[in-house]
This record gives sequence, structure tokens and C-alpha cells, in this order.
Amino acid sequence: MAYTWEPKWEAIRLEGNGIVLTTCRDKVTGLIACPICLNANSTCLGKSEAHTEVKGEISLFFSMDDLIEHIKNFHSRGLSSKLEEIRKRMGEARSD
Ligand SMILES: [Zn+2]
Repeated sequence: MAYTWEPKWEAIRLEGNGIVLTTCRDKVTGLIACPICLNANSTCLGKSEAHTEVKGEISLFFSMDDLIEHIKNFHSRGLSSKLEEIRKRMGEARSD
């Protein structure tokens, strides 16, 4: 699928369900980009207005809930191992 519009990213902060995410939103469509797919840091953060070509596949969402679902489904491998690491550390701390 080819994207036919030129996204105008702006950095946004999303909060909900105890989760805070900083990512990019396209001013043209209002769609939220997955920060992991898009690599938010290099695309929009730290710049007031950035024009960035969309290269390859990125995931865009209408709501934070949709984005979180996507992160759970597609990027959960890294998250799970991180959570497991934290859980282990907490377990170790508790057993002391
Ligand atoms: Zn993603």
C-alpha cells in the first residue's frame, strides 16, 4: 500500500491506563503513529514541525487504545522480557 499524503508530524504525549507515551501524530490526518515502528525520537521529537517521508510500513492509529493493542500484539516480545526481568528483580528483593 502506498501512502499518498505527506505527513506533518507533531510530538504528542498520550496518557491513559497508567501508561504515558510520547509519539508522533500526523497533523494532516490526526492519526497517531506507533513510536516503535516509526522511531519517534528521530522523526518528530525535538522539532516543532518536521516533514518526514514515510518509508516502508508504519502503523497508524485513531486512538491510544488501538496503539496500545498494537504494541501488545506486535512489540510485546521485548516488553515481556523486560517485565520478566523486573519481576525477577522484585522477587529477589522480596526474598532478602
Ligand atoms: Zn508498531
